[in-house]
Amino acid sequence: MINIFGYTMVQLTDLMIKLKLPKFRASQLANWIYQRAAVSFDDMNNLPKDMRQMLKEVCVIHRAASVDQLDSSDGRTSKFLLEFSDGVAVETVLMRQPYGNSICVSSQAGCNMGCAFCASTIHGMTRNLTAGEMLAQTFYINELLKKEGQKVDTIVIMGSGEPLTNYDNVLSYIRLLHEDYCLGMSYRSITLSTSGIVPNIYKLAQEGIPVNLSISLHAPENELRSELMPINKHYPLDTVIKAGRDYGEATHRRVTYEYILIAEVNDSIKQAKELAELLKGQLASVNLIPINPVTERNWQRPSLDRINAFESYLNKKHIPVTVRREMGNDIQAACGQLRNKHI
Ligand code: SAH
Repeated sequence: MINIFGYTMVQLTDLMIKLKLPKFRASQLANWIYQRAAVSFDDMNNLPKDMRQMLKEVCVIHRAASVDQLDSSDGRTSKFLLEFSDGVAVETVLMRQPYGNSICVSSQAGCNMGCAFCASTIHGMTRNLTAGEMLAQTFYINELLKKEGQKVDTIVIMGSGEPLTNYDNVLSYIRLLHEDYCLGMSYRSITLSTSGIVPNIYKLAQEGIPVNLSISLHAPENELRSELMPINKHYPLDTVIKAGRDYGEATHRRVTYEYILIAEVNDSIKQAKELAELLKGQLASVNLIPINPVTERNWQRPSLDRINAFESYLNKKHIPVTVRREMGNDIQAACGQLRNKHI
């Protein structure tokens, strides 16, 4: 059985050809799967009965089912553990922000980047997710929101996994989000976050799709960055910063550098100064994220004073900076913690 959820119009058309069905049926099928969110061929009442029967024999429409859910006490953040048909489960987060509904999508089940502060990588990577599985996460939440007359407004590919090591599937997913026959989202409402897979940052810049890029930096010099993020040994800091600069120039999109603040590790003014030096003259902003302490590691958030001092220093150097507002901390929204509990 093939799962056609996540199929593009081209793939659906190929399927019609293979089944010796008229090509125009592909767009009807797409309409049912994506616009009307059908999961059963029986519902597709504008398709001939024998076609529905034929489809049922060769394909399925599998999305994702929630096997666990945690809601923050203020009700604004919900985290779902979504399971696919093979039993693999990933986390997806809904954040009801003042500017709209934002979701955080996982690109892999687990992760093999090995970042020292991250819960997603503790059990390694189970497998890449397909475009359909990333879309299924999106649909799960979009269907939920529809019942309240709302929808998914912005997407960050910032859940578990390294999207740029699952490049083709992630790109298919992003393109599908944008297609009018699917969700018709603008590329500008989509953000991809990477630990800094330099060659694929360049590849992404050439795709002609203006998605926002976030780069996880977390340290302003190589020694510390390699300790926190082993990927830095392959793609050192200066190559990452240059790729970010080039991405900004190619796409005219401001690149965001994520910087987790960990007490006594990377939160000194000396480090703020090094960070400001690195980013000088670049179309960039910094998002400071006070670390979500993970039970598996012994790191703490800096005091509010130290966070403010770090922020002020960057401001003084004219680097646009935001501090991530706490959301969902009471539900362990740090990547991977709900999934780990199940594993
Ligand atoms: N692999 C990609 C996307 C997934 S991680 C990347 O590295 O960007 C998404 C973001 O969550 C990254 O900035 C990551 O560094 C951050 N993150 C991971 N663990 C965290 C923690 N314990 N506290 C705060 N942020 C964390």
